[in-house]
Amino acid sequence: MTTLINGKEIAQNLRNELKQKINSLKTKTGKVPGLAVVQVGDVAASSVYVKAKTKSAIEVGIEVFDHHLPEETTEAELLQIVDSLNNQDNVNGILVQLPLPKHINEQIVLDSIHPDKDADGFHPLNVGKLSIASHNDDNLLIPCTPYGCLIMLKGLGVDLSGKNAVVIGRSNIVGKPMAQLLLKESCTVTIAHSRTKDIENVCKKADIIVAAVGRPEMVKGNWIKKDAIIIDVGINRIEVETNGELKNKLVGDVDFNDASEIASAITPVPGGVGPMTIACLLRNTTIAFENKEVR
Ligand code: NDP
Repeated sequence: MTTLINGKEIAQNLRNELKQKINSLKTKTGKVPGLAVVQVGDVAASSVYVKAKTKSAIEVGIEVFDHHLPEETTEAELLQIVDSLNNQDNVNGILVQLPLPKHINEQIVLDSIHPDKDADGFHPLNVGKLSIASHNDDNLLIPCTPYGCLIMLKGLGVDLSGKNAVVIGRSNIVGKPMAQLLLKESCTVTIAHSRTKDIENVCKKADIIVAAVGRPEMVKGNWIKKDAIIIDVGINRIEVETNGELKNKLVGDVDFNDASEIASAITPVPGGVGPMTIACLLRNTTIAFENKEVR
């Protein structure tokens, strides 16, 4: 029978663990981790994410410093704010919500975050550490979505070593770090992308598929080997007709109905990878705090 990987539940367990950990760190140090959340402008989706991240952080005992800046904020002004957060003692993690307005260079801003406070794990130094480290060490700041995927994979209790893993997508925030994490688990990793030839057959050889593409239901049931494990990162909004009415529906990059007949385990969309991303942001903030105050 196919296992439905319950991201909501796994994320809740991680948040519970973090809450306990933060409590004991408070007893030990007299301090709690601090997370600065910086949002520029009012993109509706960003506001939803920021609200969810803030709420979850407060629930586990992280202090949140909210910096909601107007759309007209200049790059220089934003860099100045990041600089002051870099120097603020009670801020352990800095999150700059993407996308930034077009007049601001995202990479310059992300690179300006002190690597020790890089809650998203996107700073070149942390990307380099992830690539060099031989294990997924507990003190590394690792991009949240792929780390969440790894936690879900490990939770299945399957030996990942030697498995053929295909990661579809090579973005800096999901595909590439996912491939690094799987490589450290001794998987044989293939990264597929928009130029990959005969992607269907590449996928058919996979024991594990992580799909991070952004194309609704691209991975079909007949691309999947019997009993493969499927992690669907994609979040796509499509319109479907129900009772003569067009309604919005969230779907992943995998055709869930067909895939769940063949896979041994699969994440749903929504309720799979999504909740793990926020939980791993809180984990990174706690790690940054421990690195500074305890290690
Ligand atoms: P990007 O757009 O940055 O990357 C998409 C990748 O998919 C690219 O590497 C691209 O290849 C590849 N691709 C595009 N078309 C094809 C194709 N036809 N065949 C094979 N590969 C293809 O997206 P992200 O990595 O940021 O996000 C991917 C998805 O994951 C999105 O749906 C996003 O919303 C979702 N997401 C979900 C998160 C969560 O918390 N659940 C967090 C982050 C993202 P190429 O490089 O050649 O262009």
